[in-house]
Amino acid sequence: MSAEAALTPEAARAVAPELFPERKSPTKAQIDAAIEKCLDIQRRAVTFQKRPFAALLLGPDNETVLLSHQSVDQVNHAESSLARLAYCHYTKEYLWTCTLVSTWEPCAMCSATVYWAHIGRVIYAASNEQLATLTGPGNKDNFTMNWHTRDVLLGQQKDVEIIGPVEGMDKVVMEESDVYWKTTRKS
Ligand SMILES: [Zn+2]
Repeated sequence: MSAEAALTPEAARAVAPELFPERKSPTKAQIDAAIEKCLDIQRRAVTFQKRPFAALLLGPDNETVLLSHQSVDQVNHAESSLARLAYCHYTKEYLWTCTLVSTWEPCAMCSATVYWAHIGRVIYAASNEQLATLTGPGNKDNFTMNWHTRDVLLGQQKDVEIIGPVEGMDKVVMEESDVYWKTTRKS
C-alpha cells in the first residue's frame, strides 16, 4: 500500500459495494419516536438500580425496534453491548441499513464498537457536555469522558451517519436522567 492511498468511504465502497446498501433517512417524527422508546428502556433500567443510559437498534424502516439494551455497568455500556448483540444477530449488509439510537451520546468505546459492528447510523438525544453538567465533577458513578462520537466516527473509511444532539428531545432526556444524577453528584 502506498503512503498516499486514501482511506476514504469511496475507496471502501469501491472494494465492497455490497457492504454499503442505501440507507433510508429517518424523519424528525421517527427520530423523536425512537428516542421516546429509548427513554422507556432507560426508565425501566433505573428501577433496576442501573444508571440512566439506554440504546435500541432500529430497523431499516426507521420504526421497527429489533433489539434493546440498558446500561449494565461501567464497562458494559448500553450502546456497545447492543452493538455486539446486533452483530451476533444480523449481517453486516443489514446492519448498515439500521440505526443505533441512544438517549445519550455514545462514548469512545461505544462509538468504536458501532463502527466495527458496521451499524450505518447513530442517533443520540443529548450530548456528552449535557451529561457532564448532570454528573458534575468527581462523580464516582460516572467520571464522564471528554469525548465525542464524531471524534471517533468522522473521517473514517465508513461514513457512519451521526444525528445528535436532537433539539427538544435533549432537554427531555436531561430532565428524566437528572432524577438519578441529582442523587449522586457532589454539588
Ligand atoms: Zn459507552
